[in-house]
Amino acid sequence: MSEIRLGILGGGQLGSMLSVAAKKLNIKTLIYSDDQDAPAQNFCDEFMFGDYKDKNKINDFVKKVSIVTYEFENIPYETLNEINKFKTVNPKPSINRLIQHRLAEKDFVNKLNIRTTRYVSIEKKSDLETLGDFLPGILKTATMGYDGKGQYPIKSPNELNGLNIDFSKEYILEKLVKLKKEISVIITRFGNNRYEIYEAIENIHENQILKKSKIPADISSKLVDQSREWSKQISEELKYIGTLCVEFFIDRNDNLYVNEIAPRVHNSGHLTINAFNISQFENHIRAICSLEQIPLKKLHNAEMINLIGNQITPYRQNINLNDNEFFFDYQKKEIKDKRKMGHLTKIL
Ligand code: ADP
Ligand code: MG
Repeated sequence: MSEIRLGILGGGQLGSMLSVAAKKLNIKTLIYSDDQDAPAQNFCDEFMFGDYKDKNKINDFVKKVSIVTYEFENIPYETLNEINKFKTVNPKPSINRLIQHRLAEKDFVNKLNIRTTRYVSIEKKSDLETLGDFLPGILKTATMGYDGKGQYPIKSPNELNGLNIDFSKEYILEKLVKLKKEISVIITRFGNNRYEIYEAIENIHENQILKKSKIPADISSKLVDQSREWSKQISEELKYIGTLCVEFFIDRNDNLYVNEIAPRVHNSGHLTINAFNISQFENHIRAICSLEQIPLKKLHNAEMINLIGNQITPYRQNINLNDNEFFFDYQKKEIKDKRKMGHLTKIL
């Protein structure tokens, strides 16, 4: 039996799937979340509820675990940094701080000579008035956004007056890319030049929320190679340990752009549970716990469909699944509009 006790900050579905993967490796999990109803408590060995800034509770958590990771990026940097003084946190807190901030993230990617969308920092409303050549664009909060939250599509300067935007926060304005496709590359880095890279996954979004992912992605081999190379370069530059996801845009002229980086396991990688010998979750745990690196093998083509809001209901009512279909219920207490409630993976 392994002595490792893995602490996970965040209690959503990614925390649940990390816990399931840990169990397979005989690793016990302790999840800490600021949501009393966090669904991951149904999957982990022990659960703690508390604010991410509650020093006493975080201290209790740290004492109980041997290594710490996180399942979503919006954990305060100060908390991660403090924990890291006592127990190793992977990915490193400084990586999280960089990627948490859309502007710092994009500056970092551009310094590597990797293309991103065109962007500009916005600190006050009048900054927007002279930026016609970034329109049509999307105004995004610089921090704390996910699933399209904190995003405002803007077509023309006169639309700005109708928007009720809280300028006490920082924003970034991004030029809209005329999208042909979106893909993601999931990579687990174990150490210097030691990686396992999953093949590019094609993603379809509806209302800025991921709806469907599939492999193989229907893209040219040139784009396959370039997205792989860029993902490697990003994770190497960050000296990243664990699983990371790079989201890409492909425009109508087949130009590739990095959209954003997720310093964690990723929704588009749920299909890796059924389509590969080792899932993104297991590889994350293998890398952060210094376990054996096993060569990745694809077992099947696959597609994954997110069940959002009440799309989960028929699947909960004992729907008959085919042999190639796998249904995951995140066991969230309440069905809410736009909330990811579960997913269905089909192996093909
Ligand atoms: P989140 O953190 O919410 O995932 P993203 O920046 O990835 O934010 O945006 C969510 C989705 O919105 C993208 O996957 C894409 O479909 C669309 N989107 C965001 N920015 C742009 C852009 N500059 N051009 C075209 N589509 C975009
Ligand atoms: Mg995204």
